[in-house]
Amino acid sequence: MTGKVIWPFDPEYEQARQEYNRAINAYPLAIVYCYNKQDVANAIRWSEKHQVRLRIRSGGHNYDGYSTGTGKLVIDTTLMNDIEVDTINDVVKVQAGTRLRKLYEILYEHGYAFPGGTCPTVAISGLVLGGGIGLSTRYLGLTLDSLLEVEMVDAKGNIIVANQQCYPDLFWALRGAGGGNYGVVTSFTFQLKKKVEKITLFQLKWNNNRPARFRFLSVWQEWLEDLDRRMSAFGRIYKQGAYLFGFFYGKPTEASKILEPFLSIPGITFENIEYVDFIEAVNTIANTYPKSEKFTDTGRFMYKHLCEDELRKLINILDHAPTDYNSFIKLYSLGGAVSDVIKSETAFYYRKAKYTMAISSDWEKNDAAPINKEWVAEGFKYIKELTFGSYVNFPYSKLKDYEMAYYGQYVKVLQNIKSKYDPCNVFSFPQSIKPL
Ligand SMILES: Cc1cc2nc3c(=O)[nH]c(=O)nc-3n(C[C@H](O)[C@H](O)[C@H](O)COP(=O)(O)OP(=O)(O)OC[C@H]3O[C@@H](n4cnc5c(N)ncnc54)[C@H](O)[C@@H]3O)c2cc1C
Repeated sequence: MTGKVIWPFDPEYEQARQEYNRAINAYPLAIVYCYNKQDVANAIRWSEKHQVRLRIRSGGHNYDGYSTGTGKLVIDTTLMNDIEVDTINDVVKVQAGTRLRKLYEILYEHGYAFPGGTCPTVAISGLVLGGGIGLSTRYLGLTLDSLLEVEMVDAKGNIIVANQQCYPDLFWALRGAGGGNYGVVTSFTFQLKKKVEKITLFQLKWNNNRPARFRFLSVWQEWLEDLDRRMSAFGRIYKQGAYLFGFFYGKPTEASKILEPFLSIPGITFENIEYVDFIEAVNTIANTYPKSEKFTDTGRFMYKHLCEDELRKLINILDHAPTDYNSFIKLYSLGGAVSDVIKSETAFYYRKAKYTMAISSDWEKNDAAPINKEWVAEGFKYIKELTFGSYVNFPYSKLKDYEMAYYGQYVKVLQNIKSKYDPCNVFSFPQSIKPL
């Protein structure tokens, strides 16, 4: 085995075994920080030779800790984080362990926007292999919609380059169902779609304003119906209020007009609509994330229009939340460029959804974990009734038929591709795709 290998007796082990979600508590056999693809191949071969199961980790942000496991060999790509920008062809090659903050910053230095997610420490790998929804999504598409090529180490330790021409079935599967299932991706090549300087960042809050929540939810779903695709937004509703934030690829005066239905909800406590450098907008939202947290969270795809009774039931769930501000329902806008792409082009099944609806709760002291988890589990039962499938990047260990929930009618095709590229199920975790 090559690379930087951390064993349980090493002083770095305690830190190295941690995931972003500190509620996950696994004790891997070893963690190998790979410097290059050969280290990845060696780790895969070592695990086969020693009959040790492996897990793949890049940013370590999987909600349920599927990138680690007690007794497993964790193949970690954190140290593989080079970025090569080709400004002639508007293309970027990104190594697997690259975190989003670095990617946004380097790309912005060359004048490009990028349709990634909002958390700065999420790695490109998990994000793009499952989809990638953020505040540029309606304008520039999912993160995976910009993907041109991947380089991957397979179950035998061979290096495969997959794109539309070479291994097109694998390339298809990796775009939506790739996280941990088919091999260790070592780099991604993306088409850069947009040069950008300034955009409008908006943040609207209704704190200590419980009545605003119902209006917020009703406005949200009406508003998305014919929303200008230059605008993408995330919403959050909690026991004591609501919060909307997002990006608009245009000027603040136009943004304010589009946001009018929200601005007319009484009792706004914070309103900021400003024209800033793209990177400042990205970092303002990124800086709201902690370095780590203890949480449970899971999310689904919304297709239907909710009636008043359904909206009230959602508010009722929030009224019974264990915390005032840290237990919430999250909404991520979809549509626009996401629904332009022909559904069968990638393995991202829920392309025509209007938005995602997630339920989340975080806590500090371990003894608060059960009440938070129970609230999410109860709330999720109702959200499941309203929605149509789960976002694989917002996974949930309690899903019964998880393959169907994440991949819909694509399950059989994905299982076939799994049988072709990983017949011995080397790449497995509690919710992995099973070979046929
Ligand atoms: C605080 C926070 C904010 C988030 N914000 C957003 C958001 O704005 N938009 C959004 O869409 N999602 C968001 N997510 C979800 C995020 O996209 C997923 O958690 C994503 O899978 C994390 O990727 P990772 O590489 O950091 O995590 P990891 O835990 O390292 O990996 C996630 C999954 O991908 C697999 N994997 C990792 N690296 C590789 C690789 N190189 N090759 C093959 N498989 C690999 C792992 O085995 C695991 O199954 C957020 C998550 C958190 C915790």
